[in-house]
Amino acid sequence: MKERHIGGPAETAVGSQSRSLIDALKRGAMKRCPRCGQGHLFHGLLKVRGACGSCGLDYSGHRADDLPPYLTILVVGHVLTAGVLFMEENYAMSTMFSIAFWSVVATCLSLLLLPRIKGAVIGLQWAYGMHGFGEGDGWAEQPAPGPAEEETAAR
Ligand SMILES: [Zn+2]
Repeated sequence: MKERHIGGPAETAVGSQSRSLIDALKRGAMKRCPRCGQGHLFHGLLKVRGACGSCGLDYSGHRADDLPPYLTILVVGHVLTAGVLFMEENYAMSTMFSIAFWSVVATCLSLLLLPRIKGAVIGLQWAYGMHGFGEGDGWAEQPAPGPAEEETAAR
C-alpha cells in the first residue's frame, strides 16, 4: 500500500481517503469508531465489534495486540511510583493499608485506561491504513498462509 503524508504526521492519505490522525486518536480514546466517531468500537470492556454500526467500517483488520497493555502499564506504573513515594514521604500509612490502597488504585486506573488506549491504538492503525484498514479490505495484499502456517494453526 502506498501511503503519503499530507501536512505532516497529523493527516494521512490512504489511497484516495484523507484521514486525520488526531481525530482518529480522539475518537478511539472515546471508544468510538475512528472513521465516523458515532459507532461503538467495543462491546463489553475490551472486545472489539466486528464492524461499525453507523458507517460500516470493518474493525476486524485491527492488530492492537500487546501495545495497549504495555502503554497502560507504562502510565499506571509511573503514576503509582510517584504516588507511593509521595505518600510514603508525607504520610504515615501502615504497610497493609498502603498495599490495599495502591492495589485498588492500580486496578481502577488500569480498567479506566486500557479500553481508551486500545481504542486510540486502533484509531492510529486506521489513520495510517495499517493492517486491515487499507483503502479496500486490506486483506488482498497479504500473502495467503503457506503450508507451514496452516500446520502451525492446526495445532
Ligand atoms: Zn463508523
